[in-house]
Amino acid sequence: MKRTGLLSRLWEFQNNYGYISENAITEIAQELNVSKIEIEGVISFYHFFHLKPTGKYIIYLNNSIISEFKGFSKVKAAFEKETGCTFGAYCKDPLFSLFETSCIGLSDQEPAALINFKPFTDLTPDKVKLIIQQLKSGVYPEQIANNPKSKIQYTPEESKTVFFRKYLLGNSLKKLKTKNPEAILKTISNSELEGHGGAFFPTALKWKSCKESSDNKKYVICNADEGEPGTFKDKALLNNLPGLVIEGMIIAAYVTGASNGFIYLRAEYKYLLKKLENTLLEFKQKNYLGKNINGIKNFNFKIKIIVGAGAYVCGAETALIESMEGKRGEPRIRKYFPTDFGYLGKSTIVNNVETFAKAARIIELGAKYISSIGTKKSNGTKLLSISGDVAKPGIYEIEWGITINELLQLCQATSPHFIQISGPSGICINNTEFNRKICKEDLICGGSVMIFNNFRSITRIIENYVKFFKEESCGTCTPCRAGNQILHEKIKKIKRGICTTKDLNEIKEWGKIMQLTSRCGLGQFAANSFMMAIDKFEDYFNLKVAKCDDNCKIEFDMQSAVYDYDNLIKNTQFELTE
Ligand code: SF4
Repeated sequence: MKRTGLLSRLWEFQNNYGYISENAITEIAQELNVSKIEIEGVISFYHFFHLKPTGKYIIYLNNSIISEFKGFSKVKAAFEKETGCTFGAYCKDPLFSLFETSCIGLSDQEPAALINFKPFTDLTPDKVKLIIQQLKSGVYPEQIANNPKSKIQYTPEESKTVFFRKYLLGNSLKKLKTKNPEAILKTISNSELEGHGGAFFPTALKWKSCKESSDNKKYVICNADEGEPGTFKDKALLNNLPGLVIEGMIIAAYVTGASNGFIYLRAEYKYLLKKLENTLLEFKQKNYLGKNINGIKNFNFKIKIIVGAGAYVCGAETALIESMEGKRGEPRIRKYFPTDFGYLGKSTIVNNVETFAKAARIIELGAKYISSIGTKKSNGTKLLSISGDVAKPGIYEIEWGITINELLQLCQATSPHFIQISGPSGICINNTEFNRKICKEDLICGGSVMIFNNFRSITRIIENYVKFFKEESCGTCTPCRAGNQILHEKIKKIKRGICTTKDLNEIKEWGKIMQLTSRCGLGQFAANSFMMAIDKFEDYFNLKVAKCDDNCKIEFDMQSAVYDYDNLIKNTQFELTE
């Protein structure tokens, strides 16, 4: 086995035995000629690999803020009651193991869980009872799982839709027969396509850099690891239009000269694996993958799917590459772009699912078509995943430039108060900002829109975000590791009514340190929403500090905070108000 095969090898053990045993680790370490500690280090990095035996059915219940507001606690209690197991504990029950997990891409159907990686949506305690009874009676999860399809709630009229319009397999690839790679790259450049994963890096620039690399091997990677809480639009594309995404990858290979492609699929979407494999097979049969593709001499390209194992940070391109190389998915130091030094040190382009799908449409419909839609700086349309306090959660294809007010009307939001754009690492807005536009000129959005009404606790929203980032920080760099820990302690103080204005200032100071000195986007953006919320919901936070001023003399003691926070609180001299 090569090191690059480590993730799939670990999955074999995890799937076959329910965990990765000491013997398995020894076997793998010997095969790879590395230490057992090295292998354990990789295993312990990913949420879905276990070092202790699990039950026949592993249940991962999503604990995102959307789930929390839609009934997470009751559903969690029901799972524990019906199975007799405790969340997070490796109980002795040979049938069940229960774990919480972050967003599983089903925010429009929460509370939701994965049972042996099959989706179960819109859960209630009664539903849980029935599911557990059925599993106990021998029914397989796949027999009773829900359809994971998110509802496509809105697409513009035919003349303005980009993604959810009629798709005929191979339509964009036909153009490759008459245009050379330079001409295709020019079209992508003219369209001003930018990465739709959230970073909005110019796609043509990335492809050009890879094309110009003299490496003898080049790679095209589709980042299908959308883990930003509240995002499920890539899942909708993979589920509804997998061919369009694959065509985009083939076009990228044609331009860059890459001969190998990978789809890095998040484990939470494992239930889409069969569909993707079947689509790849269809492409091969039609000679859209393989050798001399589409009759174009020496155009050879193949695609392999790699399944992740549960790590939000692997959505960062260099972390994803590390993961594909069979390592812990820790982001690399920003010395080189992947187009200079990517997968196995070779020139690599990593693009998001939506970016590839849009690239295919651009080649099919032309750059002018895309430029005729949207705003000056944001061409075309954008897929949004909308969830929260709305009557119509789901997927929306919107024209860039739509206002928040228009969006709220489309999804029938009820008493919107706090809106999270681009997930917890993005931007939060209050109701004075609903005339703002979603586009590069104003509010840029990676795809997640979570809407909360005025009955929702802002403290709970922020606490959920903070816990998420603390859990998902890979811990490599200090500002992120310590900063997220400190933010967590601060939100606990807010909850307990012992927060001071000094604390609020310190949150901002730490946030700035994290922004400036963290290695990757996780640490750089983790404090964003907390900092913004303090300013944008000033009255709310002022009330939170009203009972305690800066003379409270609570000194922040890192060690106590980490190891014995409750004791610290008990020893303070004033009453707690929870
Ligand atoms: Fe890891 Fe956080 Fe540093 Fe990113 S910022 S490398 S997630 S510790």
